[in-house]
This record gives sequence, C-alpha cells and structure tokens, in this order.
Amino acid sequence: MKYPAIQNYIGGKSVECRGESADVISPLDGSHLSRVPLSTAADVDAAVRVATAAFPAWAGETLRQRSQVAYAYRALLRKHIEELAGLIHEENGKTIDEARAELVRAIEVTEFACSLPQLACGEVLEVSKGVECRLERAPLGVVASITPFNFPAMVPHWTIPIAITLGNTMIFKPSEKVPLTATRTAELLTEAGLPSGVFNLVHGQRPVVEALCDHPDVKAITFVGSTAVAKNVYTRGTSKLKRVLSLGGAKNHLFVLPDAQVGPTATNVLASMAGCAGQRCMAAASMLAIGNVDPIIRQVCEEARKMVLGQTLGPVISAASKTRIEGFITEAEAAGAKVLVDGRGAVVPGREGGFYIGPTVIDHVRPDMRIAQEEVFGPVLAIIRAKDVDEAIGIENASPYGNAAVVYTTNGGQAKAIARRASAGMIGVNVGVPVPLEPFGFGGWNDSRFGVCDITGKSSIEFWTQSKKITTRW
Ligand code: NAD
Repeated sequence: MKYPAIQNYIGGKSVECRGESADVISPLDGSHLSRVPLSTAADVDAAVRVATAAFPAWAGETLRQRSQVAYAYRALLRKHIEELAGLIHEENGKTIDEARAELVRAIEVTEFACSLPQLACGEVLEVSKGVECRLERAPLGVVASITPFNFPAMVPHWTIPIAITLGNTMIFKPSEKVPLTATRTAELLTEAGLPSGVFNLVHGQRPVVEALCDHPDVKAITFVGSTAVAKNVYTRGTSKLKRVLSLGGAKNHLFVLPDAQVGPTATNVLASMAGCAGQRCMAAASMLAIGNVDPIIRQVCEEARKMVLGQTLGPVISAASKTRIEGFITEAEAAGAKVLVDGRGAVVPGREGGFYIGPTVIDHVRPDMRIAQEEVFGPVLAIIRAKDVDEAIGIENASPYGNAAVVYTTNGGQAKAIARRASAGMIGVNVGVPVPLEPFGFGGWNDSRFGVCDITGKSSIEFWTQSKKITTRW
C-alpha cells in the first residue's frame, strides 16, 4: 500500500476508524494505493455533533472575517498545486495536465468565495415614509456535500469554499474511489486557519449518504453523481424537509452543421469526447451529424488515432467501468453501427493492470440504440446521422438528460436557433465543454439536475443562505 490507511477528519484532526474499509486502487496500473473507511450512521452523527457545536461561533464571525480563510486557502491551493495534481493523477487516472486544469477551476471557485463580501451583502430600502426594510443573508447551519469520482478537487470546490465562507459548517462525503485528494483538502483548510469543526470529512458509501439525508440536524445537501442516485438523494433529503440540490448524469449532444470549420471543430469535438477519458458530465457523447459533415468526421478519426494512451489519454476509473464501456461499443456494433476508431482491448505496455480504453468513434448509431440513450462515461463518440436541424433537435429533445448541448457552425442565426431549442441548461457555440465560469453558475436541466439553483455562481449564494427581512420604524 503506497499511502497509510485513510481516516475521517473531524473537528480539525484525523479520527481513527475501526470499522470496515475498502481498497483504493489506482486506475493507472491497478496498484493498491490505500484503504478508505466505510463509515456508518454513528460516524455521521459524531461529525454532525461537532459541526453543530462549531456553528454559532463561525456564523457569528463577519463575512469579511470568514473570507480571510478563503484567501489563505487559495494561496495554499496554489502552493500545493503540483502535489495535489499528483494525487488526482494517481487516484483518478487523469493526466497531470488535466489534474492541474481542474485545480485551476477549484482555485477560481475559491476566488469567488473570497469575493462574497462584495456579492452577498444585504439590501435596504425605505419602504414607506420612516419605515426601513432590510434584507440580510444568514447561513443555514450544518450542511453536507456529496461528490463523485471524476473530479476529486473541482467538484468538491463547487461547494466547500462557498458554503463555509457564507457561515455554514459542513460534512463532506467524497467518492470512496478518490479519498486522497479529499483528505489533503481537509488538512489544507485547517492550515488556512479554518476553526476546528467547521469542515468535517466522513468517508464511505451509501450508508453515509443515507445518514446525511436522514439526520435531523443537517439542513441542506448538495449531491453530484449519477442520475439514479441523484434522484434518491433528492427525494430522501426533501422528504426530511431539507433543502437539496442534486446534480445527475448526462448525455450531451453536439449539433455539427456542414458549414462548421473542419479543423477547429474536429479538434474541439475530440477534446470534449476524450478529455478526462470521457469521464466528464460535460463530455461530448452523441454527435448529431446534420447533412454532409464527413470531412469533420474524417478529421476527428485522424486526430483520435494520434492520441497516446497513458500519455495524452488516461484510463477510466475501474475494471468494471472498462468492461461496461466496451460492452456498449460491442452492442452498438452488433446492432449495425460502424466502429471507425476502435479503442477496445487497449493495453499500455508496463501498465498492464491499468483500465485503459482508446478513443472510439462509432458512426451510423441509431437513436434507439442503448449507446445513444444511456450515459457511457468513457472516451466514446457516437455519431447519429440527421437529415436536417429539425430531426437533430427532435433527437436531442427526446433525451431525458439536459446538461449540455453544443452547436458547431459559422452561421450565427443557426447557432442562436439551436441554442434556443435545445433542452439543456448549458449551451456551447463552437465550445465543446461549455462550463459557465463565475459569476455564472453550473447546472443542467431535466434528469441532469433536481432542485432549484445552480451549484456555483450567484445562485449558490441563494442556496447556502436564508434571507432575514427586518422592518424598522424609530
Ligand atoms: P455515483 O452516483 O456512483 O457516486 C456519487 C456519490 O454517491 C459518491 O460519493 C458515492 O459514494 C455515492 N453513492 C454511490 N452509490 C450510491 C447509492 N446507491 N446511494 C447513495 N450514495 C451512493 O457517481 P460516480 O460514478 O462517482 O460519478 C459519475 C457520475 O457523476 C456520472 O453520472 C456523471 O455524469 C455524474 N456527474 C455529474 C455532474 C453534474 O454536474 N451534473 C458532475 C460530475 C459528475
């Protein structure tokens, strides 16, 4: 085991866990990195007690005072960026460049948290002669954040710096597949001066998530992960009268028009479908090839064949994931689709234990095939031929998901029309991964998000606070 067994981090220190634990495996080569505790409802309760005790003092600080911790923490993230990128690379498998890029996003959200004193100040108005109404924002109390494996730093930072700077205390439940980055996050927050008990880390799986949904002292939950679990967390948490924002899976469609620029479009499509080994909720999944876009498809294939497995393309998260993704490809091929670039059975010499799949491009996929309907979450592009924009819109609109949709064209009118008609929360025009940066918020539609508000940006202030209205006459 490369690293010592991981512990929970509660009240500003590691807490020894004596219960069950699971292996942490590196997707790079299948090596054994560590063991992660599988905490129980009792562990969650212990963390919630500590967070509850820490809340009054932390909420009693001014927003300006609390934001000083965010400033110090941002400096630490920058200082430790190479160390953190190394951990992400090892436990998630993505390339060092991709790991660095997600840390830059984590830093950007932390900068948003630093600016909260400017953004989350109250409002005041003389509502009638001599009567003043003022609105203040108050934190909620103990809140929880539950995150997936695919961004061990970025997705946790969508919530941690914002929720705590706004005065909440937090229980964080990272994916059990990537616990090392999470543990380092907790240590760096303490080093940044965060009072003990404000941020608490409880590792584990389903029982921890369910205990957080059920705990009467947890006031709000954000969840990011697959749609099936997102639905369960939303219904279970709201049935206990909590505020819940639950982001789910995705199936993102790219509308490619014949007037799109061949080179830039092909490069961008490939980066969207193969970046982070296709394990992004914003990844290109289905290309809607409208009319004759064969030159673009040929160029995508040519560039895909140039990718170097293990260098410019990392592995997927697990052996089970590799088997599942290869199953999608085999099933589509058997149903009549044409595999133009085949990444099945890929092996990286010297890393035979790793979970690699080469970039895969499949043409003539039909909308009724499983690969066109379900989330694949691997470096696979399914090309669906459409005779015109209306047919393509029909296919996109029929998807139950709605995270992102992208249009590639040089025609502004077409871009605008498709952006209006696509049923997705985040639209790209010649941008393959259209993540809205601060102060705009990240959030999809349909089965990609349950609950109101985006998870980042200005609407996150609404989610993590409650408003107090004070009406005064002297
Ligand atoms: P996952 O749903 O398996 O796990 C997410 C979290 O839920 C983890 O912390 C995990 O321990 C926990 N969990 C797993 N099964 C559970 C269960 N039955 N009950 C309660 N908790 C459970 O997701 P994943 O495989 O870690 O991540 C990939 C998924 O996340 C993809 O579907 C991807 O699209 C989605 N994702 C969505 C967004 C978004 O913003 N919409 C962002 C990133 C990832």
